[in-house]
Amino acid sequence: MSTKSLPEFSLSGKVILVSGAARGLGLTQAEALLEAGATVYALDLLPAPSPDFEPIAARAEKEFGTRLHYRQVDVREVEQLNSVVGDIAAEHGRLDGLIAAAGIQQETSALEYTAADANRMFEVNVTGVFMTSQAVAKQMIKYGNGGSIVLIASMSGSVANKGLICPAYNASKAAVIQLARNLAMEWGPHNIRVNTISPGYIVTAMVEALFVRYPERRETWPKDNMLGRFSRPDEYRGAAVFLLSGASSFMTGADLRMDGGHSAW
Ligand code: NAD
Repeated sequence: MSTKSLPEFSLSGKVILVSGAARGLGLTQAEALLEAGATVYALDLLPAPSPDFEPIAARAEKEFGTRLHYRQVDVREVEQLNSVVGDIAAEHGRLDGLIAAAGIQQETSALEYTAADANRMFEVNVTGVFMTSQAVAKQMIKYGNGGSIVLIASMSGSVANKGLICPAYNASKAAVIQLARNLAMEWGPHNIRVNTISPGYIVTAMVEALFVRYPERRETWPKDNMLGRFSRPDEYRGAAVFLLSGASSFMTGADLRMDGGHSAW
């Protein structure tokens, strides 16, 4: 990205981690960060990233003079998480940002939900996001440059989605929105900002999986927002660069809801 125009959006020289970036929203946002000049590390549970990953990594080197790396990490493995994050920060002598996009979804009615399934949901979507943020904040504080942390919540953290039976998922996303406010309060003195993005329905593998069981949702869900359509992962590129960069330097403890107006009526 040119530093002559809108320099506050540049991520040049910054090192940013994106969890859940083997595919989906995380990978698309990682690409935007690369285009804005950052070195990006994708952290994900999958042994290898999706086929979309390599072309983006190649573009990063060739077109933007930066790098996209992959580290297999389960956000539930806190020791491993801290070791991987610590090694990345040590290699660059800095750590500037995080997008915590790793998350899971499960559709089960409240009367049938098991404690084991609920715990698994909260372990990944809440504790996993919390521990990823903590691992990153420790390094940001160690290297002393401050930083920006973005947690991927959901509009499902603020509303009950009509016809989507996901009590634990929605509760987990509400927890993420609140967690960000508390982290923002505790880490503000270290010049670390913490915000959430609350997307509406995005057509990714996560949502495609729901369409397999309920194909009619392809038709009904788009009618639930004011724009009458699903969103695409690339519609969250700008938000990623905005929140990670100096363009949002006075924004912390906030939720950026991007849901086509779904929760506004
Ligand atoms: P996705 O399933 O395509 O991507 C999620 C990624 O997280 C996967 O690559 C998966 O391997 C990884 N992951 C899961 N558990 C992990 C763990 N324990 N450790 C490390 N990585 C793990 O889904 P997506 O749609 O791209 O979702 C990304 C984020 O956006 C999620 O937090 C999701 O809840 C949120 N979100 C999605 C939608 C939507 O409609 N797709 C809407 C709102 C919010």
